[in-house]
Amino acid sequence: MGNFRETARRFLQEVAWDCLSARHHSRTFDYYRADRLILRSRFFALLLGVATPLWLFADIWLLPAGYLEPMVILRLMAGALLLALVWVVPKPNLFGARAHILMLVGIPLLFHVASQGLLGPTYSNPALIGYTTLPLFLVVMLALFPLTLMEGLGITALLVGAVVVQHAAQGVIGELGVLGLFWDLALLTGFSLLAQGIHLHMLMLVHRQATHDPLTGLLNRGGLFRRLEQGVTQEEWPDTATVLIIDLDRFKTINDRHGHPVGDEVLRHLSTILEEHLGPQDLAGRIGGEEFVIVGHPDAGGTVRERADILRQAIADHPAPTSAGPLTITASIGVARWESGRRVEEVIAEADEALYAAKEGGRDLVVEPAS
Ligand code: GH3
Ligand code: MG
Ligand code: MG
Repeated sequence: MGNFRETARRFLQEVAWDCLSARHHSRTFDYYRADRLILRSRFFALLLGVATPLWLFADIWLLPAGYLEPMVILRLMAGALLLALVWVVPKPNLFGARAHILMLVGIPLLFHVASQGLLGPTYSNPALIGYTTLPLFLVVMLALFPLTLMEGLGITALLVGAVVVQHAAQGVIGELGVLGLFWDLALLTGFSLLAQGIHLHMLMLVHRQATHDPLTGLLNRGGLFRRLEQGVTQEEWPDTATVLIIDLDRFKTINDRHGHPVGDEVLRHLSTILEEHLGPQDLAGRIGGEEFVIVGHPDAGGTVRERADILRQAIADHPAPTSAGPLTITASIGVARWESGRRVEEVIAEADEALYAAKEGGRDLVVEPAS
């Protein structure tokens, strides 16, 4: 029973909550997901943009005379708008991604409503039943997007709302065929929302494993660098930032004396000290075995030197509580400054040079680059 409760609690906390809305997602994941969503939305815009005009061949075969000409115009307009959407590439943020998907759904939906206005309701005509099913197809297409429940519900509400209003305007809302259509729409919407949530959850797991270090839970090298580059392109980071490389002194000795698992405990301890010294906008990552990086936002207060010294002192003052007893550790810190236009790798290399000087200078030191 306890096990079931624990599983249910973890499910609610780790899966359901994250699938509900993007409020608790990390910014790194938001960028990554937005990028995926935009790419997928553009792909479907291409697919629909090509398929919509091609459907004219079905129109020629199925539609009564007189309807063809306006249908050609409608199809060409919808196709052109969808193909234009392929070349609309918003910035990789959730606002841009949601807007893109709304247009991806909105354009075919407008086409659908207009064509139903032209042809009259088609649900009761077996030869034209295909013209009724476009909204169903759109709902199924949304199943292929990693959306939160709120996003999925928002977009589907718009879609279902348009179909309801269209049938109400035609005065056929209570007819059995239309009710059957709504029933199918509701079933497929449920299926689609579920698929979106599963898709989102899988993407989160994969993203987390790819960008975080399993030992300390901090960002790994790739995750940290990508996060910084995204911050720069999003102009969310100001023109300057400070970079600290923190490297444990003589860590190999700890491993040699006490074994690797104790070394791991020390690394976890160091990561908690780093986290305690992070400002709300700072970033921390583990970029190598016993090498960590803190990227400090200038709003965090204090000079780089002061912040680095406080950190170095905190590491020396707090022995790591390990299974081999408390172990006193020290770290050397290399400092660099990042300015807009400089590549992340370049700044890390500069901090690395300062770190090397700190090691040469006797360790347990902070060194700034000679300017
Ligand atoms: P220095 O003061 O010059 O930095 O000396 P050091 O011993 O800290 O540096 P060195 O580069 O010689 O050794 C780093 C060690 O870190 C070697 C490697 O076994 C250890 N290490 C790397 N990754 C891990 C890990 O994930 N867990 C543990 N326990 N040890 C690790
Ligand atoms: Mg070291
Ligand atoms: Mg090292």
